[in-house]
Amino acid sequence: MNNPFARTEPTKPSSAFLERMDDVVQRRLAAADTQFTIQGGYELREQVWREVKARVEAVRDDLDFIIRDLHAHPEEAFQEHHAQAVIAGILERHGFEVERGAHNVETALRAQWCSSDYDPDVHPTIAVLAEYDALPGIGHACGHNVIAATGVGGFLGAVGSGSGRIVFLGTPAEEGHSGKEYMVRGGMLDGVDAAVMIHPFSYDLVSHVWVGRRTLTATFRGVAAHASMQPYMGRNALDAATLAYQAIGLLRQQMPPSDRLHAIISDGGARASIIPETATLQLYVRSLYTETLMDLSQRINDILDGAALMTGTAVNVQWDSHPMTLPVRNNEVLAARWGATQAQLGREALPAGILPDSQAASTDFGNVSNLVPGIHPLVKIAPEGTALHTTEFAEAAISPEASSGAFDASVGLAQVIGDCLNDPRLLEAAKREFAATGGDVSVADLLGKTE
Ligand SMILES: [Zn+2]
Ligand SMILES: [Zn+2]
Repeated sequence: MNNPFARTEPTKPSSAFLERMDDVVQRRLAAADTQFTIQGGYELREQVWREVKARVEAVRDDLDFIIRDLHAHPEEAFQEHHAQAVIAGILERHGFEVERGAHNVETALRAQWCSSDYDPDVHPTIAVLAEYDALPGIGHACGHNVIAATGVGGFLGAVGSGSGRIVFLGTPAEEGHSGKEYMVRGGMLDGVDAAVMIHPFSYDLVSHVWVGRRTLTATFRGVAAHASMQPYMGRNALDAATLAYQAIGLLRQQMPPSDRLHAIISDGGARASIIPETATLQLYVRSLYTETLMDLSQRINDILDGAALMTGTAVNVQWDSHPMTLPVRNNEVLAARWGATQAQLGREALPAGILPDSQAASTDFGNVSNLVPGIHPLVKIAPEGTALHTTEFAEAAISPEASSGAFDASVGLAQVIGDCLNDPRLLEAAKREFAATGGDVSVADLLGKTE
């Protein structure tokens, strides 16, 4: 009975496109200008640099301990009690008061330092962010243990470097969630002038594309019926979900190439002899810009309504069971300063545009970067081309390269923070760029405008 031509195994995806992209990256790498230099330097810089480096050196063992300990105790979103205790313990040992459960998130952290002359009307506040959640099954395959160490190193390295306030924010629940958005709503950015953090990766990049992301669950509700005796008495919810799935497939041709839709049908009925009364479609919507993310969302609403109308079913659409994450708006002024710090350490951070923009994921730092000038540079801890969320990256997150990456990145973050405190022109330029690229954009404003 078996068709002799039928496959017994799926076809193997061709790696040709990946190899071509790799060629492009290699050519761009060879031609890249990694010489970030300080624009309009100032006299204190050298001293700040020496002090920052010495302070990070002094806490290097703490940073390595965080990398190892968090890697050995991976915790998923909102469960990061061990990581919270480890990081809080280290900050307290260094003399800081630590607030657990800060800004309405149980596993969040906050500590701060103010210079003795700190005046909120005169001096800036810079926030340094640390993630520490892991992935189900593969642990720290996104390297957030390295982010945690670098956040601590950046904070401890920067304290004392100028007049102002430095806030350490432990921001849990990035993977699949939007912990930072909850913390934003809880006031985490009140009074903050700029926010910095890093992410480990397989290249050093001063900035990269991170697309915005929304999630939705559409539940179609029809009428169950005997599929043989009285199918005409049914209203088929699976038909509605299937039409929506097909329409999403067709929509892809009419989307900007940077938009992405990934859908599954997670419920399609219980038995073939019953016309399905309910069906559930789950969808991720991603886009390069906030405006296009909202536009794509509206087109999806139309598809879902249309599929329900065609099949005589009702549909309930639940957007954003976790708050949406916005595209990251990298502040190029601060990113260039970051590049200069890395160059000073002999680490060649690459400018934007070396890696194809199609290699993009999402992060809740997007929401932060749309409210204050922010940077989210990538730090090489893994062999070139190693993808995030793989067992290979989890191994890299505990390697000697993770340790040296966290050290260099801590010095880099601390120096950028120190420069912001000491060089008002830098922060002013960063703020001008922020205003010129759209100013404040909050999730609450976006939803208020569309709903
Ligand atoms: Zn991740
Ligand atoms: Zn990550």
